[in-house]
Amino acid sequence: MFETQSFDHGVTRLLETDISADWRCNIWHVRGRDRDLIIDTGFGLRSLSDAVARLTEVPVLAVCTHSHHDHAGGLCQFDQRLGHGLEADIFANPTRQNTVCDLLDTSVIRAGPSDDFDIDTWCYQPAPLTGMVDDGDVIDLGDRHFEVLHLPGHSPGSVALWEAETGTVFTGDALYDGVLYDHLYHSVPEQMIESLNRLCDLPLSVMHAGHFGSFGRDRARQITAEYLSGQRSMLCP
Ligand SMILES: [Zn+2]
Repeated sequence: MFETQSFDHGVTRLLETDISADWRCNIWHVRGRDRDLIIDTGFGLRSLSDAVARLTEVPVLAVCTHSHHDHAGGLCQFDQRLGHGLEADIFANPTRQNTVCDLLDTSVIRAGPSDDFDIDTWCYQPAPLTGMVDDGDVIDLGDRHFEVLHLPGHSPGSVALWEAETGTVFTGDALYDGVLYDHLYHSVPEQMIESLNRLCDLPLSVMHAGHFGSFGRDRARQITAEYLSGQRSMLCP
């Protein structure tokens, strides 16, 4: 179902145990006084909303960093659904093509939710946004605040959430410690470079990325340098 791991500042990572470790996204739960955040929602093959309800008693805002199948599959399970307007149509009308399900194969799924589950035809349920976020917007949890950073490149509406007080940023797929996907149908590598540089300029303590482990500013800069040199690029294998 879900593995959980706790981090500083009321942050918990949930991982879908049904999805292979190299494909599943990091699902982040952030505690606030008046409301909590869920940042990204995984494939949504199981009930993420039930798992989150066991972690909190306050209302939950779900924010998707972007609309790809590994991040937005569980978004429909939440009443309050935020994302960038440039991908609003994908969240509302997901297809295998526009959510890049065509990258999937059977090795990604460790266990399906039912005997007739078929990853070759699966797509996530529509999850129309209930609110749009854009660069500079602030998400207020009552006692803590997250600024929205619009970081296009991997996808046109990719966003990160930045908490200046703790130096924490949640990056989605704009920057993670792996090969960066710059080759998708709506990827723009030139924008991706701008977004990577913007993230590296933050006075950050910790980067909680969309996949794999968390790290600090030095590692973020190293990953960016390696991307710029052609390593870590799907376009420059
Ligand atoms: Zn993605």
